[in-house]
Amino acid sequence: MDDAPFDPQQQEYLKGFMAGVEARRGSLRPAGDGGAPPDALRAAQDATIARGGKLVPQEDAKRAKHPLDRWDELTARAAEGKFPKPIDDFIGRYHGLFFVGPAQDAFMCRLRIPGGILAAHQLDAIADIAADCAGGYADVTTRANLQFREIPAAKGPEVVMRLGDIGLLPRGTGADNIRNITGSPTAGIDAAELIDTRPIVRALHHHILNTRDLFALPRKFNISVAGGGAVEVLQETNDISLAAVRTDGGLRFRLTLGGITGHRDFARGTGVVVTEADIIPVCDAILRVFIAEGDRTDRAKARLKYVLDRLGIDGFLALVEQRLGRTLERLAEAAIHPPSPPAKHGHVGIHAQKQPGLSYIGVVTPVGRLSVDQLRGLADIARRCGSGTIRLTVWQNLLISDVSQDRLGEAITSIAALGLTHEASALRGGLVACTGNAGCKFAASNTKRHAAELADFLERRLTLDQPLNIHLTGCHHSCAQHYIADIGLLGAKVERGDDLVEGYDLHVGGGSGPEQKIGRLIRPKLAQDELGPVVLGLLRSWLAQREPGETFHLF
Ligand code: SF4
Repeated sequence: MDDAPFDPQQQEYLKGFMAGVEARRGSLRPAGDGGAPPDALRAAQDATIARGGKLVPQEDAKRAKHPLDRWDELTARAAEGKFPKPIDDFIGRYHGLFFVGPAQDAFMCRLRIPGGILAAHQLDAIADIAADCAGGYADVTTRANLQFREIPAAKGPEVVMRLGDIGLLPRGTGADNIRNITGSPTAGIDAAELIDTRPIVRALHHHILNTRDLFALPRKFNISVAGGGAVEVLQETNDISLAAVRTDGGLRFRLTLGGITGHRDFARGTGVVVTEADIIPVCDAILRVFIAEGDRTDRAKARLKYVLDRLGIDGFLALVEQRLGRTLERLAEAAIHPPSPPAKHGHVGIHAQKQPGLSYIGVVTPVGRLSVDQLRGLADIARRCGSGTIRLTVWQNLLISDVSQDRLGEAITSIAALGLTHEASALRGGLVACTGNAGCKFAASNTKRHAAELADFLERRLTLDQPLNIHLTGCHHSCAQHYIADIGLLGAKVERGDDLVEGYDLHVGGGSGPEQKIGRLIRPKLAQDELGPVVLGLLRSWLAQREPGETFHLF
């Protein structure tokens, strides 16, 4: 039987059968083996190459193997106690771990906390991770998020896994991914809000985490969903900003695109409004157009802003509509009724909630840094005096919500016992600083230390009757958004004799929300020890010369 000549009809059948097997094998092969249909990443890279473009090394690394498939390499390296080389570090950032040498021989881990809202048990676990693996503290960031620093190589994967255990897997918090989604920190408790954004932010967060094609961006991407209310979320600094508005046709979200204040650009108007139900499909379509159109040959030009510059808003929206298979709703400005503006420094102090008898307390942190004891203590206060909810804000502080009247005194005393406060001067309530050179290799100056020293210096000599925002950022990446502060300080090395000392370029007149404006440079290369006297002089001259009601940013 084995030696019997093969029936020609049988041979034809076998040929057809094998062709089918090969086709099925092809569809199962991972992208990159030459036989599979390309995923979004490979398709975008192929298009760049077909146009004659040369991919940057980061794109080559993604092309060699998808970063999400390289977790095992990261854990194997960590098991040997080794930190990654630069391109592997870039890949590791897809999993939330950043090697921050030479500033520190350590990993930093950035979390992913949708809308910045945490439960007390999560904050307890964060305190435990900080104690066991990360220098004994966590930093509140300017995206209503937390970061761990000083993580030894061997503990990096453990931090990521422990975060996953409490529902805060930090996937995609670095490299070319969609960062933590910001939302109104007073969502669901604010009498002035138009809509509770928590369910929207949560759904969008999970859509992103569970859609592999969205890990194919050419560069990082920020999204904000604002529902209105007392606390500013700096929506205009985001690549996608969706801000709730009332319209004659009901509640909508106004879409603005391409905010990147480090490049001196606010998100630009599109004329488009989106219903709550349409937020995920519209964001998904925008992201897919960015994936297809973003620049993969020059990282300085790879953000969404540059796609919008090239295509124009109308050209970009036409591609989004093509993806969606329908047109987007457009409304004239006159038909849109935005909510009342947030309060400057509305993130500080005690405020009544929309729920009768309940309040939230805005707790000031020392430029974002919280020790393990403070993290544990805040979780305890939230549980004991509130509903166990902690809400981070983009102002590097946090709110404890749902505190009943009879627990307010206890909460305030307990906050003070942690060395924190719910009160801040008009100078300190908007004091924001990035990591600086104590933990970031890009920084020219020690921003957190200088911020604290500047506030101390000014508070001893001056009392302001209007809230003022002072932002210190260590480099042009502008994590502390110096261009939108009343006083914005950008780290710079300053010549002093034969030496270079730490200092700043001094900008004034920036603003956000109703005061939206890019600050202007008035004094480059100011040494750190000159900072206090110069800023003091500036504020005194404003106080002496201002017209009634004139804010600093108009000065
Ligand atoms: Fe580092 Fe620059 Fe960001 Fe500051 S602004 S944290 S120095 S990258």
